[in-house]
Amino acid sequence: MLRHSMFRKVLIANRGEIAVRIARTLQEMGITACVVHSDADAGALHVRCADEAYALPGVSAAETYLRGERIVEVARAHSIDAIHPGYGFLSENAEFAQACTDARIAFIGPTPAVIRAMGDKVVARQTAATAGVPVVPGWCGSAEEMTGGRVQVEAERIGYPVLLKAAAGGGGKGMRIVRRSAEVAEAMAAAAREAQGAFGDARMFVEKYIENPRHVEIQVFGDGRGNVLHLGERECSIQRRHQKIIEETPSPALSPELRARMADAAVRLARTLGYANAGTVEFILAPDGAFYFLEVNTRLQVEHPVTELVLRRDLVAAQVRVAAGEGLPFAQEDCVPQGHALECRVYAEDAQRGFVPQTGTIEHYIEPGGPYVRVDSGVMAGTHVPVHYDPLLAKVSTWGCDRGEALARMRAALRRFVILGVTTNLDFLQDVLAHEEFAAGRIDTHFLERHAMHNGEAVPQTAWIAAALCANARAAASTDGTGETATPWRDARGWRIAGGEVSA
Ligand code: ADP
Repeated sequence: MLRHSMFRKVLIANRGEIAVRIARTLQEMGITACVVHSDADAGALHVRCADEAYALPGVSAAETYLRGERIVEVARAHSIDAIHPGYGFLSENAEFAQACTDARIAFIGPTPAVIRAMGDKVVARQTAATAGVPVVPGWCGSAEEMTGGRVQVEAERIGYPVLLKAAAGGGGKGMRIVRRSAEVAEAMAAAAREAQGAFGDARMFVEKYIENPRHVEIQVFGDGRGNVLHLGERECSIQRRHQKIIEETPSPALSPELRARMADAAVRLARTLGYANAGTVEFILAPDGAFYFLEVNTRLQVEHPVTELVLRRDLVAAQVRVAAGEGLPFAQEDCVPQGHALECRVYAEDAQRGFVPQTGTIEHYIEPGGPYVRVDSGVMAGTHVPVHYDPLLAKVSTWGCDRGEALARMRAALRRFVILGVTTNLDFLQDVLAHEEFAAGRIDTHFLERHAMHNGEAVPQTAWIAAALCANARAAASTDGTGETATPWRDARGWRIAGGEVSA
C-alpha cells in the first residue's frame, strides 16, 4: 500500500486571526507551525502563537504578505514541507501556487490551473454553464465591444438593472449597478478603471442585476482524484459594500429540496474541475427561489467556522491531510449538520461613518468565552491595529440547538466582548442581531441599506481610549475579592459612556 508522509513543517503565508487559527490546528496535528511577518507585526499574536517566525526584512508592511517569491525563498531556507495561504493575500494567486510546487513545497489548496481558471469570472461562468450550473443571464464581449455601444444593446436585451463586473474582480471592486441605458458608458469606464487599478486587468462583463437576493454558498471538498463532497451551505446575506459581516448555517431560506439542488450543482462544478482541497461555490438566490452561480473561491473562507461548528469537523486539518495525499478524511454520509451556527466579524471600523477602517492600539481586551462560543482572534491587549491590513480583528461564532439559541448566545457573547482603544463594529453588530427582521430570518444582501442600520451617533474614539485607560487602572487596583478579572462592564460606579462622553 502506498504510504504518505505527513508534513513536518508548514509555513502560514498570512497574518491575523486566520494565521492564528491555522497554527492551532497544525500544532494539534504535531506539525511545526511557522509564520512570516512584517516589521509592523513583529509582536503580533500570530507571531507569538507560531513555533517559528521569520521576518521579511526590507519589505514594506503593506507588501510583506504579498511577496510570493520572498516567501518561497524563506520556506526553502527553513525546510518547509508545505505552505498554507489562508485567505486573501496569496491564497488565490496561481503563480504563487505554481512557485511553491516548483520549489517542491506542497501548496495547501487547489492546483494552479484551477485557481487561474476560477480567478477569471468570465471563464468561471462559462465553466459553470458547461457543467449545467445555472448562471446569471449576462454577456461578455471583446475589449472594444465592452466600451462601445454594443454594451447598451446587450444590457437592453438582458433587461435593466444590470451589474457591470470585472473579470478579475474580488472584494466587491470593479462592480457597478446600472439602471438606465444613459448611465452605461460612464459606469463602464469607471468600473474598468477601478478594475485596472485593483487587479491590473480592466476586462469587464455584464450581468442581470438580481434584486434583493440572498447570498448562499456551498462548501465543497475534493481530493483531486475525482472524489468531491459538499459540507452544506452558508448564508452570507448580511453585507456592507458587497462584503459579508454576519454568516450562518443552515440558511433560513433553504428547503431540503432546494439545498439538495444547490449542493448538487456545486459538486457537479467541482467534479468538472477535478477539484482538490477546500473550495466554495457561491450563488445568489433570488426571491423566487431561482439560484445562480456567482463564483468559486479556491481557498478557505473567512466564514468556515460555522460549517465546522455544525459538522464538528476541522476544515484546516482536512485541507492539510488532502494536501499531504491522505485523501478526504470524511465521507459524504459523515457530514450531517447538527444545530445552527452564526458568525459575526468584528472589525476595527466606524459603522457610523461609512464603515471606514480604524486604527489604534487595543488598550483593554477581554474575549467573551462561555459554552458553544468560539472566538477566532488575531489581536490581544496591546496590539496596534495598523493601517496596512484588513481591519478584521476577530470572529465570534456561536452554536445553538436551533437558530434562536445560537442568536441569543451571540447577542450575549458580543455584550461580553470588551475591546477598548479602537472603534469597532460591536455595537453595530448588536443592532443588526436585535432587528426583528433578522430574528425572523428575513434577510437579503440589501438588509443593512434597507434598515438604515449605519446611521447613528458614534462614540468618539477619545471616549473609547479614555474608557480603556480607566478600565486598566481599575483592573490594576482591583480589590473586589472575587478573583475574577475586573472589567469595566461589571463595575458601573467607575465610568460610563453616555451621550458620547466619558463621565467618571
Ligand atoms: P467579489 O468577488 O468582488 O466579492 P461577487 O461576484 O462574489 O464579487 O459578488 C459579491 C456580492 O455582490 C454578492 O455577494 C452579491 O451580494 C452581489 N452580487 C454579485 N452579483 C450579483 C448580481 N448579478 N445581482 C445582484 N447582486 C449581485
